[in-house]
Amino acid sequence: MSDYYQLLGVDRGASPEEIKKAYRKLARQLHPDANPDDPAAEARFKQIAEAYEVLGDPQKRANFDRFGSAGGPQGFGGGAGSAFGGGLGDLFDAFFTQSGFNQAGSRSTQGSDLQYAVELTLEETVSGVAKDVTVRTAVACDACQATGAQDGAEVLTCGECNGMGQVRQVRQSILGQMVTTVACPTCGGDGQIITSPCNECAGEGRTIDERTYTVDIPAGVSAGSTLRLTGRGAVGPRGGGAGDLYVEIQVRSHEVFSREQDTLFADMHVAMTQAALGTVISFQTIDDVCDVDVPAGSQSGHVFTIRGAGVPRLRGRGRGDLELTLVVDTPTKLSEEEEGLLRQLAERRDESVKGPAEGGIFSKIKSAFN
Ligand SMILES: [Zn+2]
Ligand SMILES: [Zn+2]
Repeated sequence: MSDYYQLLGVDRGASPEEIKKAYRKLARQLHPDANPDDPAAEARFKQIAEAYEVLGDPQKRANFDRFGSAGGPQGFGGGAGSAFGGGLGDLFDAFFTQSGFNQAGSRSTQGSDLQYAVELTLEETVSGVAKDVTVRTAVACDACQATGAQDGAEVLTCGECNGMGQVRQVRQSILGQMVTTVACPTCGGDGQIITSPCNECAGEGRTIDERTYTVDIPAGVSAGSTLRLTGRGAVGPRGGGAGDLYVEIQVRSHEVFSREQDTLFADMHVAMTQAALGTVISFQTIDDVCDVDVPAGSQSGHVFTIRGAGVPRLRGRGRGDLELTLVVDTPTKLSEEEEGLLRQLAERRDESVKGPAEGGIFSKIKSAFN
């Protein structure tokens, strides 16, 4: 393997800035765009690109310093290629984003996250509740202890990718030669080849099963919020860590109460006479009963605030309020006696009302024109 420091013309103690500067200068000089039909320049350009990909990455540079290769003790695989973008900007970007090689031996794929929605009643959001959540998910295979190997069969490091799980592919594009990193075709990206795969999981190291978790939902939780259960998602293949389980809270709409932040809203109905003369209403709140003093002469639409009868504050003290909007109900289906009393009242207050038969005040208006 070439001495990358020599290729870039820097000494072994060079700072990252010095390495970057040296590389950029050489890349500009040797770039194929600047040297059309010059195979020697192109070959050198590839060499310095390879050198920079290693020395420009602190981890790879440390490996190179220690082991003489970028990938650590197992070696760097089939020799580093290089990326050839159209302009130099593309080239640099490609290097900075395309650090596809993992540290040898440290690769294991994390399982995916799961999402689940639970629907709560408004009462449950006020009291808090424990809910069982059952998910079908990838779980570690018991038969092979998540190794993927049958009865302790040998697991070999893939020779094609040296256990990296990834190989580089060179392809031609309109911008020139591009190098991309793809999953190794020999081991399917695992970095390992299992000589005898587990019968239960076909070498995956995991199977699909149901799991039930109890989720403690705190009082005050609101619709649309999400709880995260760390490590309750799908496990990765062959001992890969588990993802997380995200539980989204949905809240069923309530017949009586609506909610905004920690305030609850409801209508409070009283009879016309109660509004006029005053009363005390025993009101069923979301989780209690409270007496509401309605003064004489209360108007429809008046809002009564019941402190602390709303939703508990998440991770805070106290509760929100309950706002009751007064609705004065007009009596219907009057008995003859009741109608008589109301007519007396109307007459006493000099309020014009319809007469007992059809027509009433409107027939009087009409008759005035005859
Ligand atoms: Zn298995
Ligand atoms: Zn491989």
